[in-house]
Amino acid sequence: MSNLQKQRVLEVHHWTDTLFSFKATRDPSFRFQNGQFTMMGLEVDGRPLLRAYSLVSANHEENLEFFSIKVANGPLTSRLQHLKVGDEILVGRKPVGTLLLDNLLPGKTLYLLSTGTGLAPFLGVIKDPEVYDRFERIVLVHGCRFVAELAYQDLITKELPENEYFGDIVREKLVYYPTVTREEYRNTGRITALIRSGKLFSDIGQAPFDPEFDRVMLCGSPAMLKDIHQILDEQKFVEGSSSSPGHYVIEKAFAEQ
Ligand SMILES: Cc1cc2nc3c(=O)[nH]c(=O)nc-3n(C[C@H](O)[C@H](O)[C@H](O)COP(=O)(O)OP(=O)(O)OC[C@H]3O[C@@H](n4cnc5c(N)ncnc54)[C@H](O)[C@@H]3O)c2cc1C
Repeated sequence: MSNLQKQRVLEVHHWTDTLFSFKATRDPSFRFQNGQFTMMGLEVDGRPLLRAYSLVSANHEENLEFFSIKVANGPLTSRLQHLKVGDEILVGRKPVGTLLLDNLLPGKTLYLLSTGTGLAPFLGVIKDPEVYDRFERIVLVHGCRFVAELAYQDLITKELPENEYFGDIVREKLVYYPTVTREEYRNTGRITALIRSGKLFSDIGQAPFDPEFDRVMLCGSPAMLKDIHQILDEQKFVEGSSSSPGHYVIEKAFAEQ
């Protein structure tokens, strides 16, 4: 298990029956870039049971944090959801991922479009002071079924804007747009529909997508990624990678079986 580190759970928070998050100790030698994911899990019957997990914690933070689904019969999360303070988790030493600022060309507005636990990597991104240096506006869109699933609202709307080091620039540049599909709320509807109708842009006072000025990071369900991918293709956005930065980058929030 040399490619794995053992860490201890420090805090657990249950958001809903299907979502929870936890903090864990971090090996000081564990380096990662904001927006990346790593393998994480538990030792079960003497063997590692691991899944890909985005890092909610930013790379300048002392501890690690993960935001997780609870899948009733999921091999990992049926166990992981019972984590308690002091329990041991396994964390892979090789973080990877495409949701990196360096994979994008310079631009004016950065859209972070997420559904469900797809929010996780963007929590690392919006805690990164560099993102505020590179972009004039950062628009974080989080789509869920129910209001209770809009996790981390306090972090996004209170803690970060009050951060002693870069709160002022967060207040100036970060726009948070939560939306739900299954109940009444200030914003409702699927992200795809809000983009197609133009409502997202009129609500936040931005012009519709334009590859000259806008950059997009996507993390969500396979269906959401497919739909937004199509919209971006129609608008002539080019996908970026580490070898060739582009107008947008994509990461799955989970893989469909
Ligand atoms: C790049 C990447 C990053 C990921 N980051 C996260 C993360 O930060 N947080 C997280 O909870 N999961 C994340 N996942 C999914 C994660 O790897 C596992 O699938 C999840 O923890 C469930 O594990 P499991 O063994 O319980 O069930 P699995 O057998 O892995 O999954 C069972 C089924 O549950 C559904 N499912 C799995 N994960 C999710 C999810 N997150 N949201 C909605 N439905 C899901 C899918 O239909 C899947 O087929 C990520 C996946 C990828 C590919």
